[in-house]
This record gives sequence, C-alpha cells and structure tokens, in this order.
Amino acid sequence: MDENFLLQTETAQNLYHDHAAKMPIFDYHCHINPKDIAEDRRFNTITEIWLAGDHYKWRAMRINGIDEKYCTGDASDWGKFEKWAETVLYTIRNPLFHWTHLELKKFFGINEVLSPENARSIYDACNEKLRKQEYSCRNIIRMANVHTICTTDDPVDTLEYHQKIKADGFEVKVLPAWRPDKAMMIEDPGVYCQYINQLAIVSGIEINTFGELINALDKRHLYFHENGCRLSDHGLETAYAEDYSIEEINTIFAKVMAGHQPEINEILKFKSCMLYKFGLMDHSRGWTQQFHIGALRNNNTRLFKQVGPDTGFDSIGDKPIAEPLSKMLNRLEAENKLCKTVLYNLNPRDNELFATMAGNFQDGSIPGKIQYGAGWWFMDQKNGMENQINTLSDLGLLSRFVGMLTDSRSFLSYTRHEYFRRTLCNLIGNDVENGEIPNDMELLGTMVKNICFNNAKNYFDF
Ligand SMILES: [Zn+2]
Repeated sequence: MDENFLLQTETAQNLYHDHAAKMPIFDYHCHINPKDIAEDRRFNTITEIWLAGDHYKWRAMRINGIDEKYCTGDASDWGKFEKWAETVLYTIRNPLFHWTHLELKKFFGINEVLSPENARSIYDACNEKLRKQEYSCRNIIRMANVHTICTTDDPVDTLEYHQKIKADGFEVKVLPAWRPDKAMMIEDPGVYCQYINQLAIVSGIEINTFGELINALDKRHLYFHENGCRLSDHGLETAYAEDYSIEEINTIFAKVMAGHQPEINEILKFKSCMLYKFGLMDHSRGWTQQFHIGALRNNNTRLFKQVGPDTGFDSIGDKPIAEPLSKMLNRLEAENKLCKTVLYNLNPRDNELFATMAGNFQDGSIPGKIQYGAGWWFMDQKNGMENQINTLSDLGLLSRFVGMLTDSRSFLSYTRHEYFRRTLCNLIGNDVENGEIPNDMELLGTMVKNICFNNAKNYFDF
C-alpha cells in the first residue's frame, strides 16, 4: 500500500497523482453527527473515533468469534481496540483491511500492519495525537481536504448544530439532508403516533388529518431549505408505487393514528403516496432526491432487541424492483415534476437494472439528471466500485457521474474517496494501455477531476 497502491499502470499513476489526488472532497451523503463538528469534538481514544458506531468492524469482529462485549458492549476502549487489532489480520481481502491501513497512514502517518504485537504502541500513538487540537473534528475534516459535507437529518431535527457551524464561519460547508423515513413507517402505530406528535410540536401544526401531516412536513421541508438543505435521502426496502386514492390514504392515516395496525396493502399504498408527496416537495424547491434501495434490515431479532438498529445485522434484500421503481419515477415524470435523482442499489443483481432505469428519465435539462449512484454498503469495496463504474460506463455516461461519498459514521472515512479515486484511475489507465481509449491526458485528467469533484459540485448546486 505505497503511493501507487491499486495503480497498476503508469497512466493510472499519472491520472491519480496529477489529477485525482489534488481534488477536494465533496461528501454529499454521510452519517456523521453535526453536533461533533459544531462542538469541534476531540476524541480521547482511537476506539471512540474508529470503533464506536462502525458496524462494518463489529460485523467482522463477530465473524472472527469476538464477544459482543467488545463490539457494542461495555469493554474498555483498550479492550475493544485490542480485539479489533486481533481481527485485522483476518480481514485480508476484505475492504476493512485496506480502509484500516489507509486511515492509519493518512491521518496518523503509521505505515505498519496493525496486529496484536504492535496494537498497544499504535493505540498509544494515535491517542496522543487525537487529544491534540490538530485532531479535532474540524481539523480532521481540513486534513482530508473536504469542501462540502451533507449529513443525514430527520424532519424533526432542529438543525441547531448546522446553524452553529455556519455561524462560526467554518470554511467547510456542512449542510443538512432531509431523511423522512420515519414519516412513512406506519408499520408500528405506537411508534408512529409518537413521531407524529413530535412533528406536530416542532412544526407548530396540529396533525389530525393526512392533509395536516403533509402541511407540517412541507413546513419542515421549507425550514430545511432555509438552512441550506437541497438534498433528500430515502432508505427503502424496495420502490413503492401502488395505486391509491387520497380518500384511501386519509382513512389509512386516521386508522394508524387511532392506534390500529394497518394491513400490508395499506402500508404499501401509504408509502407510495408519501414518496410521491416527498418527490413533489423536492421538485418544488429544486432539490435532488436520493434513493438507497434494497437493504433487508434487523434480521437477527435477538441481537436487535439487545443492541438496536444499524449495528451490523442487515443484509442484501431481493424484492422485485424494476416495475415499482419505474412506476414510482414515472408518476412524477408524467407531471413533469421529477427532480434530479440519484439511485443506489444494494443488490448487485440490480446493477444493470438501475443503470438502465436512470436512462429512462433523462430529459436533456441538465447533464446526468438521473444518476446511477456509487457502490454502496456491501458493494463499497474494490470489486463493487469496479462493477458500478463498469456498468455505468457500459449503459450511461461515466463522464457525467457525480462520484463517491463516504456514507460513513466516522470522521476518518474520507480515505474511501481515495480508494475510489485510485480504483477509477486504475480502470481508465488499463483501458489506455490496452489501446481502448485515447492516451490524451488532458481529456482524461479533466474527466477524472470532474468525477472526483466538479460534477458533484455542479450537479447538487448547493
Ligand atoms: Zn447512508
């Protein structure tokens, strides 16, 4: 993993070092906590920044036979780090092996392979650095040359931390992104009613009818807009595009708010209607909508009860997607109200499906209006990225791609952009050396710089 890591040809090396590596990072989707940036948090240990909240690592540790106590449990920070160090040698050929060492190298200047033998010295060296002001959240973001960050926020969030970050004059743009998943989740009426009460309080709109729900959400959407938000995101098991009448939706909403369990077909109709309404809101304010589609969540009920959601018990789902996705997008397009849209699939089965679906709804208004999004979650590794890039190249225009995002909960994950950039340059370099594309470094350098940064900046237009 030297400076030419993953760069197999001289062309790839030139493209990466002369073009890709110099570009700032435009991280348009992640899950870092804006509070940490607002307070410019410093971390006491590398465990805090590296292992707390990282379900990729917990998953690998569990596979390696490590007790839950060292993943999400109450073991000491050192105890958890020691178990991670023990696991790292077993992550060879898993992206965690590369991510771990890219992060140690980029942020801490450590070039050793993490193992039980050097775990203590690496732990101490990292902690010593982390406690210094140079390693505060904002300084880590600066170190990574980040230009823009979009967090993931619920409509009921106050956005107070985004406001504080802006008021402080932090030179990196930290913007909210609208993630209204909870407003659609009527599966559990008890939880849903609580959420709607919260929404009513935050929006100042009493919510007794479906119309009032939409008014309250639209008011929050406007509030997000006033706070710089131009981007939504939806985490969906599949696309929802059932036929419904507004009378049916009113009845379903009233039923759920009265505490009654909705039928499966009612849930599907309700979600279909909500996605349409959210699509209209995004279109009316010129936003971009993102759809992360295809996770099968919380598979392990015993551990779900013990440690909660987003802890590493999710996997790839296989619900039919082509027809509902087409219908969902077309419902908005038919009224000429489909905004810029990014589609991410989790099941690699769907790569070509998603890339061709994006092509159906391009309208010539802006380049790459409907994007086939970067390799996500279980496909966020060399193989998955190469497949996504190759599929997009085959079926769309790679040159118009808005590129990579971290989708991470950790401030050290910016090296995922480096990983992506190296992979991208390597693919292009191989094509050049095979004589398949012109050896025109000006053309290719511009293309690479656009995919790494310029396309996203122009497309999202924050
Ligand atoms: Zn995400």
